[in-house]
Amino acid sequence: MIGMTESIGNEFLPNENKVYKADLHIHSCLSPCADLTMVPSTVCTKDIDILAITDHNTAENVAAFVCLCRDKVVIPGIEIHTFEDVHILGYFSTLSDVMEVSKIVSENTNPFPYDPETFGYQLLLNESEDFIGMLDNYLGFPTNLSIDQTIDLIEKHNGLAVFAHADRKFGVIYQLGMLPKNAHFVEVRKRETWQELKSTGHIVLTSSDAHVPGEIGSRKIFFQNDAFSGKIDAHSVISAVALGRFRTIWD
Ligand SMILES: [Zn+2]
Ligand SMILES: [Zn+2]
Repeated sequence: MIGMTESIGNEFLPNENKVYKADLHIHSCLSPCADLTMVPSTVCTKDIDILAITDHNTAENVAAFVCLCRDKVVIPGIEIHTFEDVHILGYFSTLSDVMEVSKIVSENTNPFPYDPETFGYQLLLNESEDFIGMLDNYLGFPTNLSIDQTIDLIEKHNGLAVFAHADRKFGVIYQLGMLPKNAHFVEVRKRETWQELKSTGHIVLTSSDAHVPGEIGSRKIFFQNDAFSGKIDAHSVISAVALGRFRTIWD
């Protein structure tokens, strides 16, 4: 559930005539499969107003984006790889909530001796955008958390859980052939899935899952200024998503 905890930085007052563009699935240079140029000075020059940083099984780079993308609303996020091989996104109002989840995810990951030359670099950023190290634990494998445990973990930390790219590889429909009964929030790749899930009352998102700068904003959602009550910050964006108060690229 969405908590009422304080939101972090990067907040704005709604502008009456503006439509806000949001891409809520972006990987940083910490994801082994993402480009090394996925850093704030590149990501935050893109034509979107709201973005979520969602690295695989970690949120260690979120703080750098919150700190350096001052003219965007940055949603602290994570993309958790469950043991069923399903990706689930978690969106949080605060850095402390996402970091707590990130820590628990890391404790539920099997150590894997990993060669960055083969598997891709996992680069940690500080708040001046310097590379300050690499994560040793490979982020591209499933955790020991099940789908239910992952959703529970996200919700216990006041987050919103969204099934990522449900209709392609590592998406729940693709992997398991169906959507779990308790699934409310789903990100899709295909228009047909969007149509089908809308008709069954789901809240359906379209985001880019960008791993390189050119993909940022290629899929997005749109908020009208009245989707937000008062200021626009991570908390109000997540609340608007939870209520389905947005349009997709297909609406
Ligand atoms: Zn994914
Ligand atoms: Zn992703």
